[in-house]
Amino acid sequence: MCKKMLLEITLLTLTAALHATPAAAQPLETAIAEDYAYLDELFRHFHAHPELSMQEHETSDRLAAELGSLGFEVTRGIGGTGLVATMRNGPGPRLLIRADMDGLPVEEKTGLSYASEKRQVNLQGVDMPVMHACGHDMHMTTLVGAARQLAARQDDWSGTLHLVGQPAEEALGGARAMVADGLYDQIGRPDFALALHVIAKYPAGKIILNDGLMYSSADTVNIRVRGVATHGASPHLGRDPVLTAAQIVVALQPIITREISPLEPALVTVGAFHAGTAPNVIADHADLAITVRANTESTRAYLLKSIERVALNTARAAGIPEHLLPEVMVAPFGAPTTTNDAALSARVRQAIEAGMGSDAFVAWKQTDMGAEDFPDLVNIDPVIPSVYFEVGGTPPERLAAGDWADHHSGLFQIDPEPAIRSGVEAMTLAALNLLSPAPD
Ligand SMILES: [Zn+2]
Ligand SMILES: [Zn+2]
Repeated sequence: MCKKMLLEITLLTLTAALHATPAAAQPLETAIAEDYAYLDELFRHFHAHPELSMQEHETSDRLAAELGSLGFEVTRGIGGTGLVATMRNGPGPRLLIRADMDGLPVEEKTGLSYASEKRQVNLQGVDMPVMHACGHDMHMTTLVGAARQLAARQDDWSGTLHLVGQPAEEALGGARAMVADGLYDQIGRPDFALALHVIAKYPAGKIILNDGLMYSSADTVNIRVRGVATHGASPHLGRDPVLTAAQIVVALQPIITREISPLEPALVTVGAFHAGTAPNVIADHADLAITVRANTESTRAYLLKSIERVALNTARAAGIPEHLLPEVMVAPFGAPTTTNDAALSARVRQAIEAGMGSDAFVAWKQTDMGAEDFPDLVNIDPVIPSVYFEVGGTPPERLAAGDWADHHSGLFQIDPEPAIRSGVEAMTLAALNLLSPAPD
């Protein structure tokens, strides 16, 4: 045998080994453990090659290749880089599972051997460091891991499986873009939808699932406060937008402390305040950028309405003429609350508990007002019943020592093996339950 042939055969064997799906005859937990070397390589690849929101081109290529090689029919380019991979396996319900694909403009400082050194020019033309600082690399790896188990166990389920790779979760626009671009015209309306997020503040591999609220709503409000420009030494000849904007920042806070019930979570954070050019110039405008969070749609609507009322009337009190009152703009890409369907959540919990035991879970507790754009994928008419669960990402001893970094930090890192193995197992158990064949 010539060397070239030998090399070709070796390469073919290697490729076959890489694409071999896990054996179906084994118990799920064992099959996932044996498949982990494959998933670990994939996770490291995704981690080392992050891409910014709406620019997940190579990520989407790799995810499409992984799912295509398992026999899924892959449709690309839905809502930008979005994709859906479909496997039809007899009559039965249609289940959608979503993984988000984007990284963040964060410089990685973990020192991991597979740390990202990637930079990318963002959509505004600015060169940025990029990092999977939220764990979306784990979500894609888990999606592929569950796909590999489900593809190997087609005798154990019946129905249609749609796996979605979604762009731009961090920018809160990707789910909406996929729906607007005809995702459901393409695949029809699924009966159920599932998603997961790895979460650093919980022990690696533990499952966190609530039968109702998982995440708050999130909206961005931009306010342009307009004034009348003048010399800094003659303030009486103009109207100072910096002072008025500062008063608005303070006047927004009593909405939370005096207007909303003290028992109802609500949040208004003015994260950016830009104004002025020089100490002796009174500017003609000041810009505020605000994030607004709530746990119910009624509180969300109340906050958005009240912010406008406070902004306009604070400006009026400052003597700003009516035609120069602040422009209050609610950005169109806000996300509603992520709320699990209670009945479906109970069913998913039971399925996971039956396979992984009750000690697989850690109780859910809201500790901040984080948000997700997954609801934009399922809040169509009629709403798709959905469940979103979390998988812990940090070794317990590091949690106990306080030696861990939160999401969106350059130091963010998860313990991939327990998180991915649990994520794959929980997602596969949930899918097998929801796609259980009808009794004969
Ligand atoms: Zn994030
Ligand atoms: Zn995230």
